[in-house]
Amino acid sequence: MTTLTHYIAGTHTRGSADRSQPVFNPATGEAEKEVILASEQDVNDAVAAAKAAWPEWSKTPSLRRARILDKFKAILWERADQLAEAISAEHGKTHDDALGEVTRGLEVVEFATAAPTLLKGEFSESVGTGVDTHSIRQSLGVVAGITPFNFPAMVPMWMFPVALACGNTFVLKPSERDPSASLLIADWLTEAGLPEGVFNVLQGDKVAVDGLLHHPDVKAISFVGSTPIAQYIHITGITNGKRVQALGGAKNHMIIMPDADLDMAANALMGAAFGSAGERCMAISVAVPVTDAVADALVERLVPKIEALKIGPAADRTSEMGPVVTKQAQEKILGYIDAGEQAGAKLVVDGRTFKQQMQGYENGYYVGGTLFDHVTPDMSIYRDEIFGPVLSMVRRNSYQDAVDLIHGHEYANGTAVFTRDGDTARAFSQDIEVGMVGINVPIPVPMAFHSFGGWKASIFGDHAMHGMEGVRFYTRIKTTTTRWPSGQRSDPQFTMPTLG
Ligand code: NAD
Repeated sequence: MTTLTHYIAGTHTRGSADRSQPVFNPATGEAEKEVILASEQDVNDAVAAAKAAWPEWSKTPSLRRARILDKFKAILWERADQLAEAISAEHGKTHDDALGEVTRGLEVVEFATAAPTLLKGEFSESVGTGVDTHSIRQSLGVVAGITPFNFPAMVPMWMFPVALACGNTFVLKPSERDPSASLLIADWLTEAGLPEGVFNVLQGDKVAVDGLLHHPDVKAISFVGSTPIAQYIHITGITNGKRVQALGGAKNHMIIMPDADLDMAANALMGAAFGSAGERCMAISVAVPVTDAVADALVERLVPKIEALKIGPAADRTSEMGPVVTKQAQEKILGYIDAGEQAGAKLVVDGRTFKQQMQGYENGYYVGGTLFDHVTPDMSIYRDEIFGPVLSMVRRNSYQDAVDLIHGHEYANGTAVFTRDGDTARAFSQDIEVGMVGINVPIPVPMAFHSFGGWKASIFGDHAMHGMEGVRFYTRIKTTTTRWPSGQRSDPQFTMPTLG
């Protein structure tokens, strides 16, 4: 059985840990690999390696750092298929979906290759007589990234390309459910010329996370995962004096107005609700048709499409939706379908009945596409993030009622409105209290040069990820005021210096 190890100071190592756990292939249900789980000693070793590498890396010209990232980008383009296969084998998503993930991560690398421009400072001449001031942004030191299972390549790439470009060194703690992508990334960064210790991978669970949260040499933590853990990371991290950005869970609503193109909206819902088996923080899990007529027309369009979903392993390149990540996830999702039915929602398409027939894949963790209609806000299928292929329809009679529904939910990651009306679209974009908004765009994931982040219980901390928000998070500002002796002498001054 393959053992997935840490990558510390340029070396694959088992470290000192005596703990490991199986890594499953969700398409077959087989435990094909195991992953080492870090001990506190391993955390110390990874942080020490990153700390030792920081002085030189932070002083390396930003253009040289950018060129290494540029080489890494070229390797990623060339081997995107290999990385996508590694992702699918442990996550379960289809090959094309995994390739899409790699591309979206790669775009952040591309953004980070602009490091010399991104880090340009500010200069003010003659802020006083013969006095100039300049401000620069400097790296923090060792920073850590703790990432979820659902994007094992893209989410780490929201973080480390920007962190490294800014001159920090990095410790990545990937999800223990799909750790292989992190090791390919580590190897390819080294191949691109990254000095040892600048990027380290620490495999593990809560022990690794807590070790990073309490380590005095870790200056900042970037986290993406579920809301309870994001909240815990934020509180513990800031209590220990660290900078923290912690992105949490989601329940994303899509409003469909009576003037929307309903065929377009139905197709958008299919991809946004069932792509990646609903295991995306930007998945649409709640459709909010405005008026019963719109709801009925949507149901009519959605049912045949959901029933025709091609559910299968990534090995079958025609699959449209793969399995969910673990047996526990499968059981949790099936439990929510039971709960929705018991609560009185109308189960229009029942994903519990799906059985995978493909030989060799009968024991995979598949769930069929599911549609509930007449869902109400008190139901657990509405309130909770199910993180599976379950779409709930909450009918509303007016635009304002639909907006009020969204504002009543604790999460505020992404949202969308489908309409042809410019006034409605503009009002929605301006007034909705959600971090990422789509107008006739169901999954409005910002490009790398903008920033990714929700509002309310979908984020803890002040900075979103990548784009200029990422640069600000991974740097601190220093302002230097300079005067050169040029024959002018003044007497000692005991008042606050002013221009006068
Ligand atoms: P998770 O919270 O279970 O795990 C995320 C990370 O935290 C993993 O590395 C895990 O090892 C670690 N962790 C888990 N339990 C911990 C504990 N008790 N103490 C310390 N560390 C712990 O999340 P997941 O199931 O891997 O990912 C799915 C979640 O991530 C969903 O809620 C999804 O919405 C969210 N997500 C959010 C975004 C976003 O941008 N807002 C993006 C992707 C995923």
